[in-house]
Amino acid sequence: MYTLEVMVVRMRSTKSHRNNRRSHLKLENPSLIACDNCGEMKLKHIVCPNCGKYNNREVVDIIGKTTRKEAKKTEKKKETVPAK
Ligand SMILES: [Zn+2]
Repeated sequence: MYTLEVMVVRMRSTKSHRNNRRSHLKLENPSLIACDNCGEMKLKHIVCPNCGKYNNREVVDIIGKTTRKEAKKTEKKKETVPAK
């Protein structure tokens, strides 16, 4: 066996260089706006999670969705109870 000596080129980046590079890595706050219908704060260009409306038009049936969710929950509870 033989050892191969390899030259290592190491580009030293100073603290200043590193920090300067990372100066663009900042996270920005999500742009929130008040919903036209219910006034709840919501993300821009996204259906309101509170009332399910976008551009004054109902897109998501929130009430139906929640009732269906509740029904599913109660159904699941019944299944988990052991039959005696
Ligand atoms: Zn809303």
